Amino acid sequence: MSHDVTGEKEGAKRLNKVGLLAQVCRYMAIQEKNLTCRDCNRVFIFSVGEQEFFSAKGLVNEPKRCPNCRLLMRVQRSGDDPSRTTEVNCAECGVPTRVPFQPKGYRPVYCTYCFRSKKAEVQENKEVAAGDITALAV
Ligand SMILES: [Zn+2]
Ligand SMILES: [Zn+2]
Repeated sequence: MSHDVTGEKEGAKRLNKVGLLAQVCRYMAIQEKNLTCRDCNRVFIFSVGEQEFFSAKGLVNEPKRCPNCRLLMRVQRSGDDPSRTTEVNCAECGVPTRVPFQPKGYRPVYCTYCFRSKKAEVQENKEVAAGDITALAV
């Protein structure tokens, strides 16, 4: 009987791989786009990750402003002082990104996209850990 259980597990593993591949293919179908910011006229990259994020949120329009100007606008809207924002390079991909605080130096600063994928990674790791515990209990 134990043989059947192993087979099931293998099947699940294979399914996971297929799922991952489908995800990769989906990512590859979307291309990075160069867009011009209407505020500072700088060309910025509308990354694949951001496009995924936009479509997940149901947004059909492309961003009109670069991430920096978008953040500045958000800060101004919430009544904060824009001069408190700092432009840093993302610790992961090196893209210049503006953050609404002064980085202290002991924590890496990520662009919005890397920050999101980092968060997703942590969540996934948590799920794996939970799965391991269940496996041990069985
Ligand atoms: Zn801009
Ligand atoms: Zn980044």
